[in-house]
Amino acid sequence: MTEILEAVRAGASGETLASLPLPKTTRALFVKRDEQGMFDAMDSRDKDPRQSLHVGEVPIPELAPDEAYVAVMASSINFNTVWTSIFEPMSTFGFLDRLGRESVWGKRHAQDYHVVGSDASGVVLRVGSLVRNWKVGDVVTVHCNYVDDQDPSAHDDSMLSSNQRIWGFETNFGGLADVCVVKANQLMPKPTHLSWEEAAVNALCNSTSYRMLVSANGKPVTQGDKVLIWGASGGIGSFAVQYVLNAGATPIGVVSSAKKAAMLRELGCEHVIDRAEKNYQFWKDEHTQDESEWRRFGKDIRALVGADPDIVFEHPGRSTMGASVFVTKRAGTIVTCAATSGYMIEYDNRHLWMKLKTIKGSHFSNYREAWAANQAICDGTVVPPLSAVFSLDTAADATYEMHHNRHEGKIGVLCLAESEGLGVTNTELRAKVGEDRLSIFRRYA
Ligand code: NAP
Repeated sequence: MTEILEAVRAGASGETLASLPLPKTTRALFVKRDEQGMFDAMDSRDKDPRQSLHVGEVPIPELAPDEAYVAVMASSINFNTVWTSIFEPMSTFGFLDRLGRESVWGKRHAQDYHVVGSDASGVVLRVGSLVRNWKVGDVVTVHCNYVDDQDPSAHDDSMLSSNQRIWGFETNFGGLADVCVVKANQLMPKPTHLSWEEAAVNALCNSTSYRMLVSANGKPVTQGDKVLIWGASGGIGSFAVQYVLNAGATPIGVVSSAKKAAMLRELGCEHVIDRAEKNYQFWKDEHTQDESEWRRFGKDIRALVGADPDIVFEHPGRSTMGASVFVTKRAGTIVTCAATSGYMIEYDNRHLWMKLKTIKGSHFSNYREAWAANQAICDGTVVPPLSAVFSLDTAADATYEMHHNRHEGKIGVLCLAESEGLGVTNTELRAKVGEDRLSIFRRYA
């Protein structure tokens, strides 16, 4: 790997990279099949990713004809790595086994280790015989929509395909490694004005928020809309805020500290609700919600923007869905992609049907949407919310931080990149976007 790394650092040509021998193994972050029961009967909060995530060498599998090996310069921590590491809501080895039963190539994924990670920036090291649009030496980022392009159901919106998967969560050989394996249709150009770690933290969350709030497949924001964004300084929330602002609409960001509120204001989100300060008690007890608290929340939103939200960007799930459905404007939309606090949701259906509201489900994005979201990063109209950087060897600590909501924005992970700040090739665009704007999340972290 040292030879390849030196060549990548020296900006070697594709020809040179192609001539260098590939290692048989790679350093990677993984969970183990024989440990999938280690947290049984424990409370979620007590399940510690630092016990279940391991860094070590694993074999690099043979390359399928439609795939590429990528030398991963940097990756990021996503919430799906938290889920994998605490084996909730189920062990991800079940996903790998299912993929393993699908085809000869799928079989490679059903291993006793699961290499995690659903983001990456890096350099293409090899391409399979069917790959046309990418070549060795290309500098790339990776999105995580993993689809079988021979499946007819993948050929309208690929997120509707019957065997759509999230790479590094429902597949093996993810991005938290020195070498990862991707399908060629996961590759996108790396934004030239960003460092490896700034470029690595976007694809998963950025594409998700793009589909939810920009694409016709979600609930596109229009000028003048008021959009309530839960977790507005978190991964998907911080991209959502930027898309709402870019659309000429008004975000109302919900966060849980004064520091996060200040950070959001610097990003351009004028209206922020600090839910910790307000101390909303939407649930009186485990089974009963409190409509008067929903009402208090609604009044706070009206006091800020003078109206009820046209759109609510939902993902906390059980804790907030009742309130989200209640505060949404008549005929408005709640667009949801997750349920961090619990997926068995309760809301008062009378508020939904009597006021003609819609709940819209959304999940990651198709290639076109991911490409468009990546283009917004490449153009500098959306900035990466990078707040902290860990090494691959300490990525389990970063996962622990995320599990306990002790982070802001996105956490980057250096894999082959030996230090931060490398990989920038377009200094002119970087200056235009501005160091101040690019470093907002780091300064507040
Ligand atoms: P994140 O960086 O941890 O941000 C989530 C934010 O939600 C936190 O910063 C927190 O903000 C807020 N939050 C957490 N629990 C809450 C609660 N009980 N009530 C109100 N707010 C709460 O995570 P993320 O990357 O943005 O992901 C958020 C969720 O979306 C995760 O469950 C993830 O798995 C899911 N996701 C789904 C997709 C998809 O394709 N379906 C894609 C990306 C992410 P404050 O404490 O500041 O309020």
